[in-house]
Amino acid sequence: MTELAPYAAHPESSRGRQIPEAAPEGRSEFQRDRDRIIHSSAFRRLEYKTQVFVNHEGDLFRTRLTHSIEVAQIARSIARSLKLHEDLTEAISLAHDLGHTPFGHAGQDALNECMKEHGGFEHNLQSLRVVDLLEERYGAFDGLNLTFETREGILKHCSRKNAAELGTLGERFLRGEQPGLEAQLANLADEIAYNNHDVDDGLRSGLITIEQISGIPIISRHIACARADYPELSGRRLIHETIRRMINSQIIDLTRETLNNIGKHSPRDIEDIRKSPRILSFSPEMQQAQLELKQFLRNHLYQHYKVTRMSAKAKRIITDLFQAFTSDIRMLPSQFREKAESGGDAMRITADYIAGMTDRYAIREHRRLFAVEEIPS
Ligand code: MG
Repeated sequence: MTELAPYAAHPESSRGRQIPEAAPEGRSEFQRDRDRIIHSSAFRRLEYKTQVFVNHEGDLFRTRLTHSIEVAQIARSIARSLKLHEDLTEAISLAHDLGHTPFGHAGQDALNECMKEHGGFEHNLQSLRVVDLLEERYGAFDGLNLTFETREGILKHCSRKNAAELGTLGERFLRGEQPGLEAQLANLADEIAYNNHDVDDGLRSGLITIEQISGIPIISRHIACARADYPELSGRRLIHETIRRMINSQIIDLTRETLNNIGKHSPRDIEDIRKSPRILSFSPEMQQAQLELKQFLRNHLYQHYKVTRMSAKAKRIITDLFQAFTSDIRMLPSQFREKAESGGDAMRITADYIAGMTDRYAIREHRRLFAVEEIPS
């Protein structure tokens, strides 16, 4: 790893773990966090969870696992240019979606609706719940007992009400402060990754076409460059040559603008970063260009009738499962049922169970509960 900037997160001055542990040998505290995340079962389940397309729709679409790896790749390369802690950046990137429900945003909205009267459901807070509480692997503690800095990065957004219950970790939402740069970076690397791969997957699915996207400025100039370099190129190769240029230009823009901001605010350490306005950002022009791309994706991909149908189906599945389990908690698998029967919050336990499901598991569980014919377990 390259030398760390003074304003990066330094593992020696980490705010530490909730349960103190002996320092790791041969690796840093943030490497240990990254390693624990990769070995968690929630991480493995990302393979069968999706964002826009449901897992069974095709083998070539992104899943939350490949998305998280793309986020980590983009974030790590920017971290290296900015001399931030690469392993911390990677840990946050790999963990950022651990709390996502099956079926992407449709699933999250449905579960939030089910939990409306019981404290709601926020996927960022759920990611934190996974690493703080729900992983059952270690003898000395529940969860993964990660460092403050990784947990701070995982909790990207949080309502003031929930922040007030989180102690030190929630304080920044009440004070309007920022997290460290590694957390800010994982957040924007997430945006770069999904905007670009949604264009790619959208084209692959045939729901959007290259003619349609040619009208969006952020894309059209890269199509033109790719065509100028390779006049004969078409199809998948043209798309890839366009998207790699888009990703690259966003990375360069983000790095340049952030270095400018660092020059302006001259932060001395991570505490200065936390108190400064957001240092890690795209240029205003790039922000505008991304907004136009997002609007296009919303109108033509996320609200495409085929995606809308799948989202409606996903909402029905989640809502049916929640209603079935909460009407009779004896239908929950034994480890969840025992928690509910020994005084746990049955609504939250049901939400944890459903949020942990993969797309295909949720579909199968729905059939087990509602199909008339026998469904093998
Ligand atoms: Mg993400």
